[in-house]
Amino acid sequence: MQREVRDEIVRFALASPENRCREGEGRYFDEPLVGFASAADPLFTEYKKVIGPFHRTPLEWMATEPDAQAVLQGTVICWILPITRKTRESNRREHAWPSREWAHTRNYGEKFNNFVRQHVVAFLSGRGHRALAPQLSPAWRRIDDTPKGIASTWSERHAAYAAGLGTFSLNDGLITERGIAHRCGSVITDLVLSPTKRSGADPRGNCLYFRDGSCGICIDRCPAGALSRGGHDKPKCRQYLHGDIPRAVGERFQVSEIGCGLCQTMVPCEGMIPRGKEQPTPGGDSP
Ligand code: SF4
Ligand code: SF4
Repeated sequence: MQREVRDEIVRFALASPENRCREGEGRYFDEPLVGFASAADPLFTEYKKVIGPFHRTPLEWMATEPDAQAVLQGTVICWILPITRKTRESNRREHAWPSREWAHTRNYGEKFNNFVRQHVVAFLSGRGHRALAPQLSPAWRRIDDTPKGIASTWSERHAAYAAGLGTFSLNDGLITERGIAHRCGSVITDLVLSPTKRSGADPRGNCLYFRDGSCGICIDRCPAGALSRGGHDKPKCRQYLHGDIPRAVGERFQVSEIGCGLCQTMVPCEGMIPRGKEQPTPGGDSP
């Protein structure tokens, strides 16, 4: 069943018309990466300390179902939708606002990500399993003022980390084998599948800054001054994304959801796990 679930997510992503760019040629996303975490993984309980007590475990999410019965085991199915090279290249040239392609991927590509969430839920439900996508649940909510900054009742990035798909970075992203430029999603199910092994002991091991103290290139890419060697200033980033940019970019590109992504492009981790200090060019790509 593991292979079947993975293949279905890949098939859907490559075949869906919702993954085709509205303007121009090509898709928003390349072939997805798929990983699995046990719904009973203690890491999800740990997240209540790391993120906040409001962050729900997978089993707590399952208990929010209308016909909820006690579920003690299951799986968090996670995927990474890598942003295409063409879109990443377009954003490399930008220094203040996202490119048109990037803005469309953030807006329409994320709508496609919702289709993936719905499709995976329907796929599992059709085979007799309970399934839900926290991001689409009425119980999902963002909390603006937490001691750790803006957070939510379910973090797709933290789920993807638990499912062995990548590690965290200086700029608060998740660096996967297809890099940091992606969207991610997840569905929780009572279907039990083998968890994907997490690589390495360091939850930030794919980021050069945390690995060997080098890089920091994303800091200079940020037009808002929201990045430093101390990390990611979420309020500053948010002010830029939701205060300064929308009026200009939203109208120009006809999108409602704005992302900047400058710190995810023209950086060594853009399209791959950076190898190390010898990394030749920012904007590294997977082979
Ligand atoms: S650009 Fe360098 S420091 Fe920034 S997230 Fe990527 S690897 Fe880490
Ligand atoms: S998303 Fe944009 S504003 Fe936010 S940290 Fe990255 S470059 Fe800076």
